Amino acid sequence: MSDLETQLDPAEAEAFRARCRAFLDEHATGYTIDGPDPRSEKELAINKVFQQAAAAAGLAGITYPAEYGGAGLTKAHERIWREEYGKSPDMTTQLTISHGMCLPMLAEYGTHEQKEAFLGDNIAARTLWCQMFSEPGAGSDVASLQTRAVLDGDEWILNGQKVWTTLAHLCDYGIVIARTDPEQVKHRGISMFILDMKAPGVEIRAINQIDGGRHFNEIFFTDVRIPKSWQIGPLNEGWRLATAMLMYERVAIGTGSKSGISTPTFKYLAKEATQRGKNADPLVRQGLVQLYSEETTRSLVAMRTRDELKAGKTPGPGGSLGKLHAGRIARMSRSLVLEITGPEGIAWTADSEDTDKHAKSVLRSFSANIAGGTDEIQKNIIGDRVLGLPRDISVDVQVPFKDLKVGTQKAND
Ligand SMILES: Cc1cc2nc3c(=O)[nH]c(=O)nc-3n(C[C@H](O)[C@H](O)[C@H](O)COP(=O)(O)OP(=O)(O)OC[C@H]3O[C@@H](n4cnc5c(N)ncnc54)[C@H](O)[C@@H]3O)c2cc1C
Repeated sequence: MSDLETQLDPAEAEAFRARCRAFLDEHATGYTIDGPDPRSEKELAINKVFQQAAAAAGLAGITYPAEYGGAGLTKAHERIWREEYGKSPDMTTQLTISHGMCLPMLAEYGTHEQKEAFLGDNIAARTLWCQMFSEPGAGSDVASLQTRAVLDGDEWILNGQKVWTTLAHLCDYGIVIARTDPEQVKHRGISMFILDMKAPGVEIRAINQIDGGRHFNEIFFTDVRIPKSWQIGPLNEGWRLATAMLMYERVAIGTGSKSGISTPTFKYLAKEATQRGKNADPLVRQGLVQLYSEETTRSLVAMRTRDELKAGKTPGPGGSLGKLHAGRIARMSRSLVLEITGPEGIAWTADSEDTDKHAKSVLRSFSANIAGGTDEIQKNIIGDRVLGLPRDISVDVQVPFKDLKVGTQKAND
């Protein structure tokens, strides 16, 4: 990363702000998706055009080194970019995992060769990346994963299954964790790899969601070959890296891509309430004020988290707080949508183009309390690692993985 302490002189800062504003005025004009987009192809295509324009203008990957395709600027520049971006429509909605999680992991733990090969294309969204952690028997307790990688000469051979992999069907690469030594205890003997999503033996199957979307997938690996040089970080230390990536995930979900105080859900629902004559209803007013307070608090927590990241360190357990706020906002907005829109929040007519958006947002909102780690897990992390409360009792941490009954594995399998 660039010199984190560099402060810009006021004239330089003003000039950079004007440059960001000019770019955003031209390119961040917002968009509406024409017709159904259950697999997010159309939205991603729009996001890519924006991001590629930002890269061409030297405004993508602000703090990443120019030698790896970043803009090579400072944290001070990034703050200005985020502040200006925060005033514009979000143009990078489908890039959260690729940029918020995979990119910082590659930059922090990748080798020089890996960064040279992959960083620039990721930053400019010429390639899209996904995260392959969860398995049918390993979600909250992801260290119970059973996907295995076995070394064969200069290649790893991957076998197993992942699930809930967001946007895998549109991705070029992904970061996968697999068990490389089942003789070790479950939090050891795991390694992290880069995976070519088009490699032979990778089978991606869509999962149909209750809201009509098909954004995430199951993935099956059958003798998938991964070059040895695509291992990220040390062998059998993938759990440490996975934990770091989960922290990045919580920060990405909890803080978003914008800086400053932002209350988009409040603004949207306040407008709906006014249009529907519900803005005098005391319950709706109370709900709106609670939502405003929650979104404001989330913004302030996000600003503090980003300031902590200024030190250039991997985010700590404090990121769980932002993630928890995001889940609370989803829950609050669900009640309010139902209160404000009535039957439209649970059903829609087939002949109208617009009436399904409220019911879909209600159905979709449940995922915010699960994706990126459930609310209960965030509370465990905050209790344990922020507040210093006693840890959950673990009975299996000293047992070799091969002797555990996890997922479909029986002891001594
Ligand atoms: C929209 C969406 C997108 C996702 N995208 C991805 C992705 O791209 N890549 C990926 O790898 N995964 C992804 N996931 C998976 C997600 O990370 C997991 O669903 C999540 O970690 C929970 O795991 P699980 O579903 O197996 O639930 P489980 O772990 O089985 O949990 C079931 C319930 O038990 C509770 N529970 C479990 N353990 C504890 C405990 N120790 N203390 C208290 N309560 C506990 C949980 O809170 C939950 O209520 C996605 C999920 C969603 C919903």
